[in-house]
Amino acid sequence: MAKWCTTCDRPVEGDTCEVCGQSVADQPRERVPLKWKFFIVVTVIYLIWRIYQLISWLSH
Ligand SMILES: [Zn+2]
Repeated sequence: MAKWCTTCDRPVEGDTCEVCGQSVADQPRERVPLKWKFFIVVTVIYLIWRIYQLISWLSH
């Protein structure tokens, strides 16, 4: 599994980023999944709102 360089915002193969030279050996990868969770929650809320609007539009 590739690690993530937070400085360059790109995946890194190995323990050191080949672009900025920063060590990524002990960095947790929590930031990206948290971003995705937030994105999924926002998308679900948006979809529920659109479906609610569609249903209320159809029932009139
Ligand atoms: Zn980097």
